Amino acid sequence: MASKAAPRQIVPIGNLSVLHGDNWGKFPLVNSLFLRGPVRVVVDPGSNIEFFEEILREGPVQILLNTHYHGDHTRHNRLFSESALHVSEADAPVYHSLDNLAAYIGRKGRYDEDMWRQMAVEERGYTPRSVDVAYRDGEVYRFGETTVEIVQAPGHTPGHSCLLFRELSAIYLADIDLTRFGPWYGNAASDIDLFLESIERVSRIQADWYIPAHGPIIPGDRISGRFEAFAKVIHDREERILELLREPHTVAGIVATHPIYRRQFEPKDVFDFMEEMMVVNHLRRSLRLQQIDAIEEGRYRAR
Ligand SMILES: [Zn+2]
Repeated sequence: MASKAAPRQIVPIGNLSVLHGDNWGKFPLVNSLFLRGPVRVVVDPGSNIEFFEEILREGPVQILLNTHYHGDHTRHNRLFSESALHVSEADAPVYHSLDNLAAYIGRKGRYDEDMWRQMAVEERGYTPRSVDVAYRDGEVYRFGETTVEIVQAPGHTPGHSCLLFRELSAIYLADIDLTRFGPWYGNAASDIDLFLESIERVSRIQADWYIPAHGPIIPGDRISGRFEAFAKVIHDREERILELLREPHTVAGIVATHPIYRRQFEPKDVFDFMEEMMVVNHLRRSLRLQQIDAIEEGRYRAR
């Protein structure tokens, strides 16, 4: 069901429009949001560009809100250069400089940092932008009849946030996206323990509509077990890595077995980098939990 192909489409929930990118916002697209009312708000404009061109033809957008800094969510931010940019305080540094982005992602100081910088600017169009409002957990926006509450849910990124629309009984889950692939924590600034806490926190929020950034909307009566299954993917990956570490392995040795992505994807350098960051985040957690030891020559071994 979640993978059934579908063209871009709009699903209304009251005055909120869910802008499903092609194939239910499957990566590298997303499901964006557009809120109508006295203040027009666009959230994570990474869906098909036609939606945003149409919204801008209808009139100005006062607020551009990002749930976090990732490129699939911010792809069309530049169309909204006249809008006030709202991002979480913890992610704001990434908007201010490429240097900060390099550090958050984990490219800083690597052999390929310069190549990555060039790609980020020339191919992905990174340009610094000042943040107008740095929001924090628990803040509530009031737009006419509709309120939007920031539910900070870090782990994916330090400032990753979900948005709760109480009057509409809907929550935008951003990248707690409940996909079968599972949680993604492939940045140096990602954190598995925080991710697990965030899944737990968000799972306790009751709503009629759960809107992931990728995949179809999940009605409240179909949500049972979905957060648990999503979190379980982390534990399954952890098990796989611990099993492997019954024999000592280096990070590169672990990455070569693809414990996260399970096979080689192209482009290889991109996927290997993300796999490496995810493995490093697992090792960090397993060291903390004393499941493994760092032994000689950059190798790790299960206890
Ligand atoms: Zn993301």
